[in-house]
Amino acid sequence: MKRCTVCVLPETFPKITFDEKGVCSYCNSFKEKNKFIPSLEKLKARLSEIIDESKSKNLKYDVVVAYSGGKDSTFLIYTLKEKFKLNILAFTFDNGFMSTYSFKNMNNVLKNLDVDHVIVKPKQQLMKKIFIESSTPGIYPQHLINSGSGICISCIRMVANMCLRIAIEKEIPMVMLGNSPGQLLQSESEIIYKDNKIPYELRKNLFKPLAERVGEEVYYYLMLSKEEYKKNPFPYTINAFPLIGYNEEKIYSTIKTIGWKRPDDVDPNSTNCKLNSLGIVKHKELYNFHPYDYEMSMLVRLGIISREAALRRVEDPEERALKFAREIEKNLMY
Ligand SMILES: [Zn+2]
Repeated sequence: MKRCTVCVLPETFPKITFDEKGVCSYCNSFKEKNKFIPSLEKLKARLSEIIDESKSKNLKYDVVVAYSGGKDSTFLIYTLKEKFKLNILAFTFDNGFMSTYSFKNMNNVLKNLDVDHVIVKPKQQLMKKIFIESSTPGIYPQHLINSGSGICISCIRMVANMCLRIAIEKEIPMVMLGNSPGQLLQSESEIIYKDNKIPYELRKNLFKPLAERVGEEVYYYLMLSKEEYKKNPFPYTINAFPLIGYNEEKIYSTIKTIGWKRPDDVDPNSTNCKLNSLGIVKHKELYNFHPYDYEMSMLVRLGIISREAALRRVEDPEERALKFAREIEKNLMY
């Protein structure tokens, strides 16, 4: 398969074209837009302000952190605790398919860092229906599908939503998510924002295809109620990695010191979730490109990982994802 000579986007990626040097249109337009990327310094200052304001109130918790037990969110919690000295409530959404080892990691890490932990495990029949339907065509618009599998989109959305709900209930001013910089579109409004800006009906429309197949109940898990969106002050959602720095080597070497080990029961793209493998396999079957092509390519463009490292993530000759996916598919029957 032909891939861009700079990043790893394949010729099967939607709307891609290549110049005479084999460089893809996404790389070329990234180069052009680069000068418009918002000043990170300004956003860092904004984050400091929000943190200082929270600290001045001596709250029980300054922040709810979405904690998957994966390497990125582990490093995020470590940094917020040790560097920023925040009072943290770690929140884990147990989708029923977390690696057993990721729970060991969470226990070790949070014990070492002395952080409170809430785990929510929604009813499994409903979760299975959501995940099965999310992996079929027509659930999410193509621009979302371009950067992730339908299964991951639903799961990540539920995580963010539950974090917000807890922050609203407990009056916690911040929710922090551990998306890698490759998962973000590099716009200011994605790094620090308030999630009540999007009109309610517009958001409801986004989840309508899923609700039509699974039932109205999905809205509770995927979005807040009208009343919850009206909460004032409304918590900030912060994607902290572009602000605190993202370096995979540093992440691995740091989290090793607080008891984190790499699980061996997940595919190479995930350090915590088995369902991810099914997401990958279904996505490749439907769209003929890897759901991590976009994120890995962005990480290459940002100079965070090498092209070779990205290739290893999207081209797994051992097809480990396939092996895990078959196992998971059996468990997903409902
Ligand atoms: Zn490219």
